[in-house]
Amino acid sequence: MNKFTKITASIGPKCEDKETLTKMIQAGVNMCRLNFSHDTGDVQGKKIDLIREISAELNTPVAVVIDLQGPKHRIGNFETEDKYPLTIGQKFTFDSDSTPGNSTRVQLPDSDVLGSLKVGDRILLNDGKIEMKVDSVKSGKVEATVLRGTEIWSRRGFNLPDTEIATSVLTEKDRKDLEYALTKNPDWVAISFVQKPEDIAEVRDFIVARTSHPVKIIAKIERPNAVERITEIAAVADGIMIARGDLAVEVPFEKLPAISRHIIRECRKMNKPVIMATQMLGTMVNSEFPTRAEITDVANTAYLRADSTMTSEETTIGINPVNVIETMTKILAYADSDAIANPYDWSRVENVPENDWSRSVASMAYLNKATAIVVFARDTDIATQISCRKPDIPIVAVCRESLIANQLCLARGVSPIYDEDLFAKKDAFNSARKFGVNEGKLVIVDEDRISLRTLD
Ligand code: PEP
Repeated sequence: MNKFTKITASIGPKCEDKETLTKMIQAGVNMCRLNFSHDTGDVQGKKIDLIREISAELNTPVAVVIDLQGPKHRIGNFETEDKYPLTIGQKFTFDSDSTPGNSTRVQLPDSDVLGSLKVGDRILLNDGKIEMKVDSVKSGKVEATVLRGTEIWSRRGFNLPDTEIATSVLTEKDRKDLEYALTKNPDWVAISFVQKPEDIAEVRDFIVARTSHPVKIIAKIERPNAVERITEIAAVADGIMIARGDLAVEVPFEKLPAISRHIIRECRKMNKPVIMATQMLGTMVNSEFPTRAEITDVANTAYLRADSTMTSEETTIGINPVNVIETMTKILAYADSDAIANPYDWSRVENVPENDWSRSVASMAYLNKATAIVVFARDTDIATQISCRKPDIPIVAVCRESLIANQLCLARGVSPIYDEDLFAKKDAFNSARKFGVNEGKLVIVDEDRISLRTLD
């Protein structure tokens, strides 16, 4: 069986040559993520060209996802590059003074951040290894007490889980990167450190002012305030990424699985696809084999019926990126088929009205034991909505535009096919056959017409 759960692969130095990338796509990659925290401009542009070239050669839709760095905050420089000791209970000051820092103070270069902190807020530095609590905020100066951590040094990143930061979700760098990326017509843009639904509107306005190309937006959920407003954010974004790296710093780590399940449930209700991200096969950076815990994490993502898993360093800098994708595909294909053998009860889909048409399609397929659903997809909406009902049979989406086929690469169980001829002829039978569905009943969806036909 082909896997139903998609794979989003981060592309970096170890997998940006044509041979490796081709093998990875053949092994099961559906979306390629280009992380603009690292390379930018033409360096990323060349990778986009290569992905498009391979996708055309293999006649396989592959989505290009631009991942913008977002407002990732860092403290200023210290007097030397040495590590400076910290003592639990000591006071530490953050200010706007660019004088190099020491064991008792350092600059916070971003004035929006300094101005947003309140008494009692936590400051987590260096991936949460250092924790401080704000005692006082006075004109341009924040005094805090060290609660955890033994040393601090230049340019450490920090997270502020309790603080709503009054800043644009797009930094100057993001604007420049996005401006460039839009010239390459990407399929998806992922926005980091989203805090509220208005952030998505801001990015959409930025895009619409520059191009008529209908790029879709993924909101990366990595802040507690975004988790709280997930339903509103999912309503306005086109997809969601559970960015577990920063999320696990900003929320107590034991809450991560519960939050992930909650986000997946909300996205299903809102008809939005969701990516589970970060450290899925992390040990494969240096190993040919995943750990038992990683195997289980990848499989559980399929059992939860999330839309996509994601690779990070294991494909960008790992010893064998092709093996990582083969491993992930193997785990997903088995978990998907096992999940289907123990079927999902579609009638339990929360908050989807019984007369919702996508639910009618799924129930029609279920009651008639259909072997596939074929959708003639003018846009991504219909196939995505049906996918969110988790019908557990292939959804063949016949597209007359490559962009729609690429964007549907994210939706679980959707096999997109870019074929103007099959679309024009409304040839559901040959479309299903292309994906190995050779018999049984097909539920066919063309705009608002739903029909049932037996493949002959
Ligand atoms: C994450 O934090 O999990 C993530 C995917 O974001 P990034 O890799 O851009 O930090």
